Amino acid sequence: MTEMTESDVHAALKTAGAILSGHFVLTSGRHSDTYVQCARILEDPALVTRLAREMASRVGDREIDLVAAPAVGGIIMGFAVAQALGVKFIFSERVEGSMRFRRSFEVPAQARVLVVEDVVTTGGSVREVIDLVEGAGGSVAGVVSIIDRGGEKAFDAGLIPLLELEVESWETDSCGLCAAGEAIDSPGSRRLLG
Ligand code: ZN
Repeated sequence: MTEMTESDVHAALKTAGAILSGHFVLTSGRHSDTYVQCARILEDPALVTRLAREMASRVGDREIDLVAAPAVGGIIMGFAVAQALGVKFIFSERVEGSMRFRRSFEVPAQARVLVVEDVVTTGGSVREVIDLVEGAGGSVAGVVSIIDRGGEKAFDAGLIPLLELEVESWETDSCGLCAAGEAIDSPGSRRLLG
């Protein structure tokens, strides 16, 4: 199994358009030179498989019985990691604000569960999945993600990311790109895709 380094992952995500460079206004209103659109990975099933194999290999020799992921972001990667590990997969979803396993998905008692997410910032959704797993009598054997956006996490289980990506951002007043007269890019803009 070929191992992907952090720079391999970064390059693959840039090629996929999941990490964009330019001049962006984030949802916070702050400006940044980097924009993360992780869903773009899903356009390339071969890349999903490659990343999932890498995530599975990072788990090492920990025994895993089940993969669980929060909808929507974690579903496809979670499925692919479960496929790579040869174990079952379930996903949680939000019902009236709280995370649940619906659709008759269950965590068997004593199950050792790997939690998969695409991008983790504070990890609020991951925390909720961990609580669900533990509440059902299972245990969390690890948490893996494609990207860790840095900062404090809402959960104690150690996170294993393929890529640590702390994106800098600035208030409009102190944005060097604005000062340089750079036009604001829209992440949907086609010219960013190359
Ligand atoms: Zn700016």
